[in-house]
Amino acid sequence: MRPEILLPLFEELKSIKGIGDKTARWLKYLCGSGCVIDMLWHLPASVKHRIFFDKNPPLDEPIRTRLSVKEYVVPKIKRLPLRIICQADFGRVDLIFFHYHLASMTSKFPIESKIFVAGTLHEKENYYEIIHPDGIALLSDKIPEYQIIYPMTEGKTSATLTRLMENVWQKIPELPEWLDEEVIHKNHFLSWKQSLFCAHHPKMISDCSRNNPARQRLIYDELLAHQLSLKLIRQYHQQQMGIGCPLKNTIKLNLPFQLTKAQQKVLYEISDDLSAPFPMNRLLQGDVGSGKTIVAVLSALHVIANNHQVALMAPTDILARQHYGKIQKLLAKSGVQVALLTAKEKGKVRKAILNNLVQGKIQFLIGTHALIEDNVQFQKLGLAIVDEQHRFGVNQRLDLIQKQKGCNLLVMSATPIPRSLAMTTYGDMDISVLDEKPKGRQSILTRVMTLGKIPQLVEKLKETTAQVYWVCPLVSESEKSDLMAAEKRYHELKKEFGDFVGLIHGKMKADEKESVMHDFQMGKIRILVSTTVIEVGVDVPNASIMIVEHAERFGLATLHQLRGRVGRGNQSSFCVLLHGRLGENGKERLDILRRSDNGFEISNKDLQMRGAGEVLGLRQSGFQQYRLAQLPEDQNWLELAAEQAQKILQNDPHLEKNKNLRILLYLFEREKAIMTLKAG
Ligand code: ADP
Ligand code: MG
Repeated sequence: MRPEILLPLFEELKSIKGIGDKTARWLKYLCGSGCVIDMLWHLPASVKHRIFFDKNPPLDEPIRTRLSVKEYVVPKIKRLPLRIICQADFGRVDLIFFHYHLASMTSKFPIESKIFVAGTLHEKENYYEIIHPDGIALLSDKIPEYQIIYPMTEGKTSATLTRLMENVWQKIPELPEWLDEEVIHKNHFLSWKQSLFCAHHPKMISDCSRNNPARQRLIYDELLAHQLSLKLIRQYHQQQMGIGCPLKNTIKLNLPFQLTKAQQKVLYEISDDLSAPFPMNRLLQGDVGSGKTIVAVLSALHVIANNHQVALMAPTDILARQHYGKIQKLLAKSGVQVALLTAKEKGKVRKAILNNLVQGKIQFLIGTHALIEDNVQFQKLGLAIVDEQHRFGVNQRLDLIQKQKGCNLLVMSATPIPRSLAMTTYGDMDISVLDEKPKGRQSILTRVMTLGKIPQLVEKLKETTAQVYWVCPLVSESEKSDLMAAEKRYHELKKEFGDFVGLIHGKMKADEKESVMHDFQMGKIRILVSTTVIEVGVDVPNASIMIVEHAERFGLATLHQLRGRVGRGNQSSFCVLLHGRLGENGKERLDILRRSDNGFEISNKDLQMRGAGEVLGLRQSGFQQYRLAQLPEDQNWLELAAEQAQKILQNDPHLEKNKNLRILLYLFEREKAIMTLKAG
């Protein structure tokens, strides 16, 4: 339950004076959500200071001044603007209005009335002009000295939001301080409420930057809340009784290759964790093609040998099916029962799977999001594995392990993220890194060229027998337009290559996808045209050419992932990045890929150039972590927050001494973390 003191902040916006249904809907759209607090997190983008001038006013910058109304010049044609001729101490000033309500203007501001106006003065031949004043009123104090500019939707003004914000202030409680005296003092922080007030009442542009102390306090608060919740969740897991699986070699496997040193090292780390009496909570990071799947399988066998079940969750249907196919083949002689569960398994089939699962007859369950549904119950889940973790949110991985108290968790990601990001996203986890690729991999030659070269490229393809992925552009947010682009390319290539061309996309039924992937795997399809559904995980060793259209529209991490689909066999491989018009920045980005094959380096550069949300693909998955903080800009605060959170929990593991920190967690809606306090 949210503490009482926070309730006004979590009321609906409609509870504010001046906000009705319609405005509430608009604000919800603008601020991302519909509570008072969401409006408060929406901070000004800029501010204009309007100094008052009676004489010698400056031109072309925002000012306030005093005028007397002399004449209304009403246009004969409606489209033309209304002109109000006024007199100032320094000369004639005409106010120009394109949108106006004449009757209310003339009644509010009659001829000879004295008015105060805010706006930007332009000089004409023998008079001045203000086009669309920012404000006009009979009393000077009705026109604020500072005009606050909020990030806005089209057709609305910041003035409206500023006005509503004033009504909000009356409801904001002063919250008890949760920060250490020392941190406050050292960073010259104000209280939470004061900081918020200052952030919403900037006096100069620099007050709107993230370096302003008021904002920094708010950003720090958010990062601290996040770090605390990650660490609380970790603490909670460590307190659970684990399953404690000793290493047994009862299940034998004939691996078709030797494990790399890195794979062996990582397996050591994992089996140490699995044997320990508390649950494993580990991230396995490894560039595309570094061989994470086999590590997952061997970890699974460790647990299965101890009579526990394993779940492996993948983000897409294709990937789940591929894992299922390969793992089943690998384990065919081992006696381990493997099953697949996605949204496609329905009716009787599904019922049978769920039954066998509860009874422990299925030992290894592979699937998609379908695995976290409530009715999926295990007999004894010992290990949950999440593949391509960056496609899931923190909550989803928690939902999976909550199926069994003390369950071990292994998450795997190919998005090689820099330390700072790893800390915020996975701060609650131990990390293992696969920093070596299996031997014998050919390097991939990457070429960057314009879309105009497609005809030549097609001719070249006719000279080879290589298998090709042809990835079509991200057209828009909607999968439908992406699909149209892919279909168009498919039909064009079909004219050249006939039945050797296949098409795959996210809207296809699972069995259609399966049959296309199968044909590609068998070599019946030579050129596979696709939307980005193949981005993650797909493994067809014979494919050796990756072509990406409009590469400039993709994130570098995504492109690196796509490229990782080739170079898996022993023939030389190519990646062709086709691009439309490019700016300097865009050229440089694609060039990074041409030069580097190192996922860490690439994502570091991408982070510098585009910001964290994009790199992690968070925006794509609609999973946003922060309201105010931004990485890498706020990295220093992040590090301080991580350090503080550590210190706090060492002294006060259940936040009993400083209960105000619980308020902070509620403020940033970290309910999951608070739940661990209750349980712990
Ligand atoms: P990712 O880390 O991207 O998930 P995969 O697990 O799909 O990589 O492995 C990529 C390919 O490398 C697969 O075809 C897999 O069978 C193969 N592979 C994995 N480990 C080794 C190894 N030690 N030696 C040779 N090939 C390997
Ligand atoms: Mg993989």
